[in-house]
Amino acid sequence: MAAKTVLVIVAHADDMEFMAGGTIAKMAELGYSIREVIATNNERGTLRVASGQALEPDWSAAFTADARREEARRGAKVLGVDPEIQFLGYEDGRLSETTLNELREQCMRAIRWHKPDVLFTWDPHAPYEDHQDHRAVAWAATEAAMFAHFPLYHPEHGDEGLEPHYVGERYFFAKSPRDADKTVDISDYIERKIEALCEHVCQMEMTVADLQVQLAASGLDIPLLSEASPKEFRPVIETQIKAWAASVGRRAGFAYGEEFRRVRFSGIERWARGSEAALRDEL
Ligand SMILES: [Zn+2]
Repeated sequence: MAAKTVLVIVAHADDMEFMAGGTIAKMAELGYSIREVIATNNERGTLRVASGQALEPDWSAAFTADARREEARRGAKVLGVDPEIQFLGYEDGRLSETTLNELREQCMRAIRWHKPDVLFTWDPHAPYEDHQDHRAVAWAATEAAMFAHFPLYHPEHGDEGLEPHYVGERYFFAKSPRDADKTVDISDYIERKIEALCEHVCQMEMTVADLQVQLAASGLDIPLLSEASPKEFRPVIETQIKAWAASVGRRAGFAYGEEFRRVRFSGIERWARGSEAALRDEL
């Protein structure tokens, strides 16, 4: 089995871990080389808890951006991803205000630099995606992967020694997937996924605080959540992630799963359908 190079292009520090952490850990175990590009500085994902206290003494934008960069490196390390993450440095929450051409050029440059066989990113065709950064990075990365092997798209990359590069496989993730056609069995990697998420300390504290805001507004009583301290986020995160992965896995006969819309070689995949030997499935 030939080891492949995988490039993950996401908007935020924890997107990869949440959406594909088990699959990425599995690929790393298979010997794949995995790199990550994070488009924003992640500096706006902060919240104050109900008491009005900030979760950290100084959650300034600069403090948060620094903390999240470090957490991204630690999460990547747990999954077996190259911790030399490439940060594009765009403002959090405003990625959709960057021109598509600029963002697509950045993604194409990253593709030509890392030369991936496989791309992971948000699905531009998934419905109900409210986060503008996810929508923006989804389109830019998808279109960049489509045309990165066309030499006349950003021919100036050639001056930097970057060659056109073809990306054969694309795994798209989404909070509300449409046309998902690949479920990866992550039963042996669920703990690693949770471990990697828990490296994102400020993000996980915020996730618990956010769930508590929802709980308070809903009037429901879930003691595991209402009694949790955001600083001791692990039981809440573990429960949430396992329930989600179990519901995805159940449909495919796995204890835990992650699902994707997967595109392999566009027209060739359709051509090869019915002759399974033509396209092997390593996952
Ligand atoms: Zn995100």
